[in-house]
Amino acid sequence: MKNKKRFLDLCVILVILFTLSCRDASNASTDKSSSLESPSSSSFNSIVKYLSGKVSLAQNSKFEEVPLSYTIRRRTRLHKRALKAFIKMAKAAKKENINLYVYSGTRNFWVQKSIWEAKFSGRRRVNNQNLAQKIKNRKERALKILEYSSMPGTSRHHWGSDLDISFSKKNQSGMLVNNTYKPEGRGYKVYQWMVKNAFHYGFCQPYRSHPSERNQGYSLGYYEERWHWSYKPLALSNMKIYRKLLHYLRPKGFNGDDVAASLYENFVFNVHQNCL
Ligand SMILES: [Zn+2]
Repeated sequence: MKNKKRFLDLCVILVILFTLSCRDASNASTDKSSSLESPSSSSFNSIVKYLSGKVSLAQNSKFEEVPLSYTIRRRTRLHKRALKAFIKMAKAAKKENINLYVYSGTRNFWVQKSIWEAKFSGRRRVNNQNLAQKIKNRKERALKILEYSSMPGTSRHHWGSDLDISFSKKNQSGMLVNNTYKPEGRGYKVYQWMVKNAFHYGFCQPYRSHPSERNQGYSLGYYEERWHWSYKPLALSNMKIYRKLLHYLRPKGFNGDDVAASLYENFVFNVHQNCL
């Protein structure tokens, strides 16, 4: 009886996935490829793995290496649809003397796990502080990390649709990382260009404004990140599927998941209206 119910449950999910897949395909006027394959039990598993980042980027044909002229480091990868749109945007920006480079592209579950656990254990400092020493309460420590970093399994960087942008190829100083840069600085000019033009190429800023001001009904969310942009046609489609598969995507398998995992819905869905 229980197995039958689970089977029916899976059938419903597969029908939803198929419907979303068809809708995505019909909506994509300039981009005919879809992020979903036709449904089957193996495609259900591959979608869950894809959305939670449990894939080998080098061995998955969805992802493509960013040409070195568009990234600050080798072997940076994006979903091929996002990459095509990014290059188009970067070429347009270049004509207006704006340089755009991918600072960080797709990260899989295990890379995100190493980042998260390094911060959670104090091996990697956050705001120049060892959080394991500074914040003994593990849930409060997780919340501090979640201001700017994802739990493994919940990052939009898993999908290949999302990237961090730099305006300098040489070093990290060019990353649109500093939310407080001054209007006279180069970062400001680049960010203003993005705000004005990125949507023409399909990009939006998911973590814009304070999380409590995004009015998505969530009390938590990442703080503003001016460097992080999403290729919306892909990211939005993934968000919709993520919602349908929420139960199957609850993150686990990392240090701190006992205190942080239950918060995951906030961090996946509390994005700016422009990305919905
Ligand atoms: Zn990012």
